[in-house]
Amino acid sequence: MKRIIYADNAATTRLDPEALDAMIPYLKDSYGNASQPYSFSREPRNALKLSRERIAECIGAMPEEIIFTSGGTESDNWAIKGLNSKTNSLTVITSCVEHHAVLNACKDIENRANIKILPVNEYGEVSCESLKKVLCELDTTASPVLVSVMMANNEIGTIQPIKDLSRVAHEYGAYFHTDAVQALGHIGVDVNDLDVDMLSASAHKFNGPKGIGFLYVKSGTPLLPFINGGSQERGMRSGTENIASIVGMSIALSKNVEYLEANTKKIEFLEKSLLRQLRESGLDFVRNGSNNRIPGNISLSFNECDGEMILHRMDLKGICISTGSACDSVNTQVSHVIKAIGLTNSYAEGTIRISLGKNNEPEEVDVIADELIKILS
Ligand code: PLP
Repeated sequence: MKRIIYADNAATTRLDPEALDAMIPYLKDSYGNASQPYSFSREPRNALKLSRERIAECIGAMPEEIIFTSGGTESDNWAIKGLNSKTNSLTVITSCVEHHAVLNACKDIENRANIKILPVNEYGEVSCESLKKVLCELDTTASPVLVSVMMANNEIGTIQPIKDLSRVAHEYGAYFHTDAVQALGHIGVDVNDLDVDMLSASAHKFNGPKGIGFLYVKSGTPLLPFINGGSQERGMRSGTENIASIVGMSIALSKNVEYLEANTKKIEFLEKSLLRQLRESGLDFVRNGSNNRIPGNISLSFNECDGEMILHRMDLKGICISTGSACDSVNTQVSHVIKAIGLTNSYAEGTIRISLGKNNEPEEVDVIADELIKILS
């Protein structure tokens, strides 16, 4: 098989081998339905309980505040659409650089909700002042107001001031949700310190399996059930639990949290090496995002280049990178995030995203730099 250098860890990550090992018993022998009362289902039921506790511990939550979902998209949709409103009206304030799981969920409820979109600065940061400006014009006692701002951006890696934004939202009586899909397992996340009401997560972004995630819902948050059926997840999100994936997610997350410091150190070393080689080559590029970024997220815009062309030429060399978010890969237009940070067209069109992870090695980074320099010179 052709050698592959995988440098698209913001799109998805390789399943952690320990997570895979932990999943196998629930796919093979211990396949009982966790809701059944007989003893054969005791093991999967215990695994479900333990996994919930393990995940809760990683983010400082209580186990009953973790609700398993099919991933980030579902968690985001639920958070955006699910607040209980006695008056049947809802206001959602979000930012212009959110993932489409948030932006399109907002679009979907446009006819029954008041949607407000916050701007960002050139680094992709949302400010407390812009949030205050919107909130002070709303009556948060008349109908619920939800503020949803992502913890870290999937395209440019910018980490948002979630603690401050959440404090402002609460000062005005609004609820606060954060899409932590890119952040969890890559930076420290403590829901008590951040004081968020809801938080979305997706296992495949932190070396867990695909198609599984969770929504943290702080106890007391008036969230309506999202999927009706057999009353699993305390009636909030029905459907037979995907035990193997839940177990795999919990192991992957606890491992990433345990080795966070070591992983970050390694990834930052790789990142510096790549950037140094590119800078020394004399290529004309800018790096996007703020200085407070997710480790390994390297969004670069090359002057007078075509990001799509770079992606395909790198692909021919067996190197996987992205031009923007994974979900945008069929869309050749400049992404909404790159537009929002105001890059001039000559740079914007030459944007690529390299996202390094804990499994990348220095030799791979050297090849990436080498090939990029060859393509662009
Ligand atoms: N939110 C962000 C910030 C993401 O990067 C992604 C995936 O790229 C999602 C949500 C969607 O997550 P999932 O792939 O688990 O549906």
